[in-house]
Amino acid sequence: MSELIPHQDLTVELYAARRHVYTRAFTGLFRNVRRAVGAMLLLLFFATGWLNMDGRQAVWWDLPARKFYVLGATFWPQDFILLSGLLIVGAFGLFFVTVWAGRLWCGYACPQSVWTWIFMWCEKITEGDRHQRIRLDQAPMGLGKFTRKFIKHGLWLLLALATALTFVGYFSPIRALAVEFFQGQADAWAYVWVGLLTVATYGNAGWLREQVCIYMCPYARFQSVMLDKDTLIVSYDAARGEQRGPRRKDAARGADGLGDCIDCTMCVQVCPTGIDIRQGLQIECIGCAACVDACDSVMDKMDYPRGLIRYTTEQQLAGQPTRTLRPRLLGYAAVLVVMLMLLASAFVLRPLAGLDVSKDRMLYRENSAGRIENVYTLKVINKDQHAHTYTLAAEGPDDLQWQGQRQVRLAGGDMATLVVQLSVASAPQTTQKLTFTLRNEQGATVNAASRFTGPAAR
Ligand code: SF4
Ligand code: SF4
Repeated sequence: MSELIPHQDLTVELYAARRHVYTRAFTGLFRNVRRAVGAMLLLLFFATGWLNMDGRQAVWWDLPARKFYVLGATFWPQDFILLSGLLIVGAFGLFFVTVWAGRLWCGYACPQSVWTWIFMWCEKITEGDRHQRIRLDQAPMGLGKFTRKFIKHGLWLLLALATALTFVGYFSPIRALAVEFFQGQADAWAYVWVGLLTVATYGNAGWLREQVCIYMCPYARFQSVMLDKDTLIVSYDAARGEQRGPRRKDAARGADGLGDCIDCTMCVQVCPTGIDIRQGLQIECIGCAACVDACDSVMDKMDYPRGLIRYTTEQQLAGQPTRTLRPRLLGYAAVLVVMLMLLASAFVLRPLAGLDVSKDRMLYRENSAGRIENVYTLKVINKDQHAHTYTLAAEGPDDLQWQGQRQVRLAGGDMATLVVQLSVASAPQTTQKLTFTLRNEQGATVNAASRFTGPAAR
């Protein structure tokens, strides 16, 4: 008979409490690259909204008018196919970069990372480096601690507010918004959106930080299936680093059977997600290469060759050659090139005028001259930045007569609505096809299809 196992109270933690990550400051090549990329992106984000072109904000999503101005080009809702194309190109660009070099986007260009690095810099200048911050957090609240925290959160909030105002400034002209917002005269929705975005920026970059990358970002989940053995990833060279262990600085390299890792944990202390890269590739790794910079400076001090942690591939670590040009990468590159060409030609060839036709709900009527008449509402859109004069015409049943405005002059990006009546002498036997043509002074035309109905055609 089997022996009874005494009952034990087992507690399984399904929720791991967050471990606060205190990152250490460091210097190095990849930090400089990241700073340069971050500075460029921040400049792009904060400065673009202030650019003017053709007398208006150069990049402006005018939602009430349903017009989107992007550096001299005007887009209408009908052009949304271009936006879809742009998103597809962006997605394939991201797939290509991920297969080639892992999470480059996350480490260097993702807004979550860029803003988190600035917030971390604010933290460093107000509360000090890693050890000072740990000591400060453990100390009881006093005037010094309160002042440092107050300044840090004040800086975070200012940055978050500037970010939110800039973002909303792409939808509501930023020059007016910046003045009206602080005078209390901005639209109520502007306050709501700026408030929400300020809280989101402050929360994401100040408090949540690596939690966003680890638990909230979907890209972190699927990127791992995109990596292969030839993808460049930040890796620890275990063959070279193990057996890890501390040693005297003047100890000979390899003495006592030790590898190159001196177990200083600098790579862990600089990691923004708080992981130990020596345990292998982990989903938390955003590929920022902070650990590469930290370990390289340790290697320099030890007079060991750099690259114990480096950008490498699984193949290289296993002593195999890396295949850069592999089918998956070439496939993504090919799709990316084709999509870019399609997008560029769709952009260049898109008509710079738009014509929308809607037929009146009343099928037909007899006018005072006894003719059968149909009524149409024509929406004429000038998608160009310059003024144009447009002439309208219609082709369909014989003996078609036009009543109403035939010519309209529109300023760049403007739209006009015209109501016209078309009539024929005798009722058509069937519903007749009708084509409206819009022609500008240079002869460029846009067509729109409609139909003509009469009593016999019902
Ligand atoms: S920084 Fe380099 S030497 Fe120090 S623990 Fe990390 S891998 Fe080892
Ligand atoms: S392990 Fe290295 S590359 Fe990955 S997130 Fe941490 S510091 Fe960045």
